[in-house]
Amino acid sequence: MIVMKFGGTSVADSAALTSVLTIVTKTIDRSTKLLVVVSAASGTTNQLLELARMAVTDGDEAISLCKAIIMRHIRICNELIPAPDAACLDVSEIGNELTRYVEGIHFLNECTNQSLDKIASFGERFTSCILVHALRSVNVRCRLFDATSVMRTDDQYHKANVDFNETRRLCTRALIPEFDAHDVVVTQGYIGATPDGFVTTLGRGGSDYSAAILGSAVGAELIQIWTDVSGVFSADPRLVATARPIPSLSFSEVRELALYGARVLHPDTIKPAIDAGIAVAVLNTFRPDDEGTMITHVDVTHSRLHAVSIVRDCTFISGQTAELKNVLGHANIKSKILLESHSIERSSAVLISQTEESRTEIDVSLVGTGLEAKSASIIIATGPGATEASVLSAIATACTEHEIHELCNGMSRLSVFIVCRSESGADILNKIHGIVVN
Ligand code: ADP
Ligand code: ASP
Ligand code: MG
Repeated sequence: MIVMKFGGTSVADSAALTSVLTIVTKTIDRSTKLLVVVSAASGTTNQLLELARMAVTDGDEAISLCKAIIMRHIRICNELIPAPDAACLDVSEIGNELTRYVEGIHFLNECTNQSLDKIASFGERFTSCILVHALRSVNVRCRLFDATSVMRTDDQYHKANVDFNETRRLCTRALIPEFDAHDVVVTQGYIGATPDGFVTTLGRGGSDYSAAILGSAVGAELIQIWTDVSGVFSADPRLVATARPIPSLSFSEVRELALYGARVLHPDTIKPAIDAGIAVAVLNTFRPDDEGTMITHVDVTHSRLHAVSIVRDCTFISGQTAELKNVLGHANIKSKILLESHSIERSSAVLISQTEESRTEIDVSLVGTGLEAKSASIIIATGPGATEASVLSAIATACTEHEIHELCNGMSRLSVFIVCRSESGADILNKIHGIVVN
């Protein structure tokens, strides 16, 4: 069996979904069973979260946004499916349910974390429903499967922890048998449910993770992540014009890249796949014949450095070790730590601080400590030779025109971190990428 996950841009509109139909039908021709995991159409999850918050205070605005979200999906049905009535009816029913929840939030004037996850789950419900109707319209034997019936999690809303054993047990009992009568089963990424049936989400970008968990639970031979770029690139192609796809990468290298800014994959994606020894391919929905990137447990060497990535909007804190360790122990700071380095006397840490709220939390935790905070970016360079002296020296040279807060090796020997001032990030990223491609 193959798991195919289609991301937000791959299901964003009828043109993208037409490519999805072609990819799926071509693969079934090769007589493989397919578990298709879909994201919400791009932008929808953000809109749904905004909708839930808006509903607390402004019922009319919320209802008009809700209608716009439903209409977007009805339009896709009309454009994509030759006889769209049944699909439109199902989408409308999902839309009516969404509307009732929005009205409920407005009535109570309160939106709990549980309600937010429930509302956020509708994006994937819309797209999975549309895809099933579209596949049936081209005679694919296919079934819509509710991911919340097997993806078992705790109740940590917005970033729920998956109960792998229970999820596997439920997949064996309820999901795998669906393939007896169907060639394709379509389900939702990103969402799960508690044992009591409350809907949860696995964190933003979590559909990749869903694909890997379900792939491992059903014993897939391959997990394909279909997105809008032709694989994992040597840098984010939106930031570095000369970035190019890397044909193969090891799990550990991709995980480091994903943890530090390469959002092409959710960092947790890799773990269930490594544990189950399943290869992951990253492919382009809009250029399906491109080679893409194959990720396996084998260490691959194309060059000493393979890729570079950046995390912006960070805060760099430095000062006396004892003071810093004390601050890093605060519950609201702990979850933001991206990098730490300690010597006996002095230490530093980089925290993710992308929102005003998190910057305030950091500032409050630093009051009276004597620690210094600066805005910063982290750049990570990865590859099998990342920590060799000649590579480190080339990286240091690439940074000479800039003030560098920190330059250090990662624990894995596959990575080097450069912590710099925010405004230097783009230039250093491009310069280090110059070393990657040479
Ligand atoms: P999807 O909606 O399919 O999950 P995402 O937007 O989450 O897609 O991820 C794909 C995007 O990841 C690309 O459009 C690209 O801008 C970005 N990206 C960041 N770093 C990289 C990288 N190293 N290689 C490829 N894409 C990257
Ligand atoms: N739709 C979810 C999000 O936007 C999950 C995903 O796209 O992977 O975060
Ligand atoms: Mg993604």
